[in-house]
Amino acid sequence: MRFSALEILKQGLTGGKGWTPHWRDPAPKPQYDAIIIGGGGHGLSTAYYLAKNHGMTNIAVLEKGYLGGGNVGRNTTIVRANYMLDGNSQFYSHSLKLWEGLEQELNYNVMMSQRGMFNLFHSDGQRDAAARRGNMIRSQGDAAELLDREQVRKHLPYLNYDNIRFPIYGALYQPTAGTARHDAVAWGYARGADQRGVDLIQNCEVTGIDVENGKVTGVQTTRGAIKAAKVGMVVAGRSSQLAEMAGMRLPIESHVLQAFVTEGLKPCIDHVVTFGMGHMYMSQSDKGGLVFGGDLDYYASYAQRGNLPTKEHVMEAAMCLLPMIGKARVLRSWGGIMDMSPDGSFIMDKTHIDGLFVNTGWCYGGFKAVPASGWCMAHLMATGQPHEVAARHRLDRFETGRGILDEEATGSQHNLH
Ligand SMILES: Cc1cc2nc3c(=O)[nH]c(=O)nc-3n(C[C@H](O)[C@H](O)[C@H](O)COP(=O)(O)OP(=O)(O)OC[C@H]3O[C@@H](n4cnc5c(N)ncnc54)[C@H](O)[C@@H]3O)c2cc1C
Repeated sequence: MRFSALEILKQGLTGGKGWTPHWRDPAPKPQYDAIIIGGGGHGLSTAYYLAKNHGMTNIAVLEKGYLGGGNVGRNTTIVRANYMLDGNSQFYSHSLKLWEGLEQELNYNVMMSQRGMFNLFHSDGQRDAAARRGNMIRSQGDAAELLDREQVRKHLPYLNYDNIRFPIYGALYQPTAGTARHDAVAWGYARGADQRGVDLIQNCEVTGIDVENGKVTGVQTTRGAIKAAKVGMVVAGRSSQLAEMAGMRLPIESHVLQAFVTEGLKPCIDHVVTFGMGHMYMSQSDKGGLVFGGDLDYYASYAQRGNLPTKEHVMEAAMCLLPMIGKARVLRSWGGIMDMSPDGSFIMDKTHIDGLFVNTGWCYGGFKAVPASGWCMAHLMATGQPHEVAARHRLDRFETGRGILDEEATGSQHNLH
């Protein structure tokens, strides 16, 4: 069924009894043309665009838990296109354009809110770096403005501007950045894929990858063997474990990333604010909670929960930047397992096994990538060729040394700056 104002009115007046489930709950078939492993944002968007853009509908998404139970439902929902380097900048620009039309595309309210994002800087050197990044962003068509301290103060009067260690000098502002409701994005893509015939199979863990004569032939799962000539590995923090089933060792480390939300407050923060030097960033959710996070817990782990020292660090940074937060109570904290590549940029490629594809390395920034990742991964799986905006994100860059060293560009140890 389609969502519309009229439908909501009709359902509201009839007790909401006419809503139908958003997707079917099919049993796995013995064979598909393609299988996507992982029912997170990237797996679901890949399935959606395989069906929509390439007419491949005999496909399944296999998810070991429930759809959206991984990082796609655990992130802090920030969407932006402020990368600097060739490869990344085109990709995230493409993604932001898809975000801007996503609600109409999916007929689903993903609560996309382009409320603007401030990346603060705290020294002359950082201002130079921000100006350079801003110029690069603008030169390839995205929005960026360099603001001085007083211009920032007009928008964000509540910040502590005179902290001795990190006084605020200004910010690189992206007016088109913002937030979107994370699990709605997963649900919207799931519903759209299901409507096009994709089987979304939950509680179905992949336990083995079948390879014969250098070609993938299918997967083993907790719900039996399933054959397919094309298999996409799209499992974020579990990428190394899954690839190992096919005898591959990926250049990926898995780390926990934590986030926090306070009790609901009246609207007080209208934008996204990032405090890179303090490893802290924040926005306010539509329910009123201040949603904030920090950096990785700096040890490799598959535990979906974080440690206390990182919590303390993030709280301290929040107090330093925004002393008023001390009056709010933290309601919840949680963690997700991040897939960090050595250069901090993602990997989307064929593997040496015919028909086996890999999509990983999103780390703390893969939510904003969900639309373009699905678009490009679908292109790769359907045509066998990388999409032009993801063409630099091949596995062989770690052999040649031609990494894409964007953002902090220090792999999993950017705490060492
Ligand atoms: C706290 C936190 C804050 C973040 N904040 C932001 C942000 O503000 N902006 C941003 O852009 N990004 C952010 N991210 C990063 C972003 O959430 C991730 O990069 C992105 O969601 C990863 O892709 P995914 O959605 O496909 O992953 P997931 O949702 O984790 O999907 C992978 C799926 O694979 C499944 N799976 C694993 N192994 C198997 C198996 N063997 N068989 C079957 N299924 C399997 C898992 O159960 C999981 O559902 C954040 C992440 C976290 C944790």
